[in-house]
Amino acid sequence: MKQVGDVRGKVTIVGAGQAGLALGIGLIRFGFDVTIVSDRTADEIRDGRVTSSQCMFDLAQGFERALGINFWDDECPLIEGLRISAFLPQFPENPANTWSAALGGPARSVDQRLKMPRWMEEFERIGGTLKIESATVDSLEEYAETSDLVVVAAGKGAIAGLFETDTARSPYREPQRSIAMFYVDGLAKPSGRSMVEFSIIPEIGEYLTYPALTAQGPCDIMLFESIPGRAWDVWSPTDSNDELLSRAKGLLAEYLPRELRRAQEIALIDDNAALIGRLTPTVRKPVATLPSGAAVLGMADVVVLNDPITAQGSNNASKCADIYLQKIIRHSGDYNRAFMSDAFGEYWKTAGPATAFTNQFLSSPSPRHARDLQMAAAQYPEIATRFAHCMNDPRDTVDWILDRDGAYRYTSEVANRYMNFPMAS
Ligand SMILES: Cc1cc2nc3c(=O)[nH]c(=O)nc-3n(C[C@H](O)[C@H](O)[C@H](O)COP(=O)(O)OP(=O)(O)OC[C@H]3O[C@@H](n4cnc5c(N)ncnc54)[C@H](O)[C@@H]3O)c2cc1C
Repeated sequence: MKQVGDVRGKVTIVGAGQAGLALGIGLIRFGFDVTIVSDRTADEIRDGRVTSSQCMFDLAQGFERALGINFWDDECPLIEGLRISAFLPQFPENPANTWSAALGGPARSVDQRLKMPRWMEEFERIGGTLKIESATVDSLEEYAETSDLVVVAAGKGAIAGLFETDTARSPYREPQRSIAMFYVDGLAKPSGRSMVEFSIIPEIGEYLTYPALTAQGPCDIMLFESIPGRAWDVWSPTDSNDELLSRAKGLLAEYLPRELRRAQEIALIDDNAALIGRLTPTVRKPVATLPSGAAVLGMADVVVLNDPITAQGSNNASKCADIYLQKIIRHSGDYNRAFMSDAFGEYWKTAGPATAFTNQFLSSPSPRHARDLQMAAAQYPEIATRFAHCMNDPRDTVDWILDRDGAYRYTSEVANRYMNFPMAS
């Protein structure tokens, strides 16, 4: 039996992102020999394009705190609440429905170009091996031969294609939003708390803003989620930054003039601060089999890729790292397929509701009960607060946001309570 202090096993992780680095750092702390394979150096990430808006809620940050890698807690602007406002195109000045609520604990968004290089440095400092290469099937074979466990945490990298799509859990065959994201200086703050400001224009798209921390200090992120083929689907990655920003302002002028007033003075924080793209939400089977027959375990975006509309991906990645870490350190015996399926099964308990919640937000039109819940949240602070807390823990969506009958049962319970009526039996 291995003694405390012995190396407990060798794990190779492909991908130095939110999931791979957090898992790698955690495993080293528990005595594992860990190699992380990254297709980009720290400098390339630092000097590269923005990758995400990475708003992370309290539970997901908790794992980073537990690992001691929450290096930016003091400098990062706090995101204290969530406001959701729905606008009709014919009445752009005033929302048809709006509500806001505090988040349980503050959310934070740290530019991944700042975070990942620092985590790579920390990973190496505590004894991890960082290998810079783009992993291929052949290299996965090599890692599988020399490691007890290979985890693929390569995000949206092409290597995720090794994992078979789980068609039963993947309702979409194409992107549901075209995405435009900007890191900017000069966005005026709305009055009051610093919030995720989420504006919905039904059947056109959504617009989100929140503060973030980047290498140069605090900034704001603007995220347009545009329904393909509709009026906001105007983004091209070949457009210049000036063209993109002027297009963004044009959409705000027409659809969200209050948001345009906030955005009069904006400028991108650097030349790489705009991201244009689209992704197809996809759930994959957690275990891929290499030509040799060896099995590798998929993690985070590789196996559960969601649209960013509900800001769940980095949160899921952190939770996945936490769950896989707990599974690996508690396991005795081979890290075989049964182990891998079990680890993913545990992750799916949280990623499943997050996926269903996200897909409900993507649906256009959204289900009737979901629209009614938005109205109820505007009327009853208790409902608004519970909704906001679901961003942190989407498992709580299951018996109301995701369940039509549960939604109406809960809203009438709350309404009855507010009116001082006895609870319905
Ligand atoms: C526009 C946008 C906005 C978003 N906003 C939010 C948000 O507000 N909140 C939130 O929680 N999530 C958000 N997300 C999602 C979030 O960024 C991702 O879900 C999260 O980063 C996934 O973590 P990961 O570790 O799985 O992958 P990543 O963080 O993408 O890391 C994967 C790494 O693997 C590397 N890699 C790829 N292929 C290979 C290979 N073959 N060999 C070696 N290395 C490889 C990549 O270069 C990358 O460094 C957003 C995403 C987008 C696109």
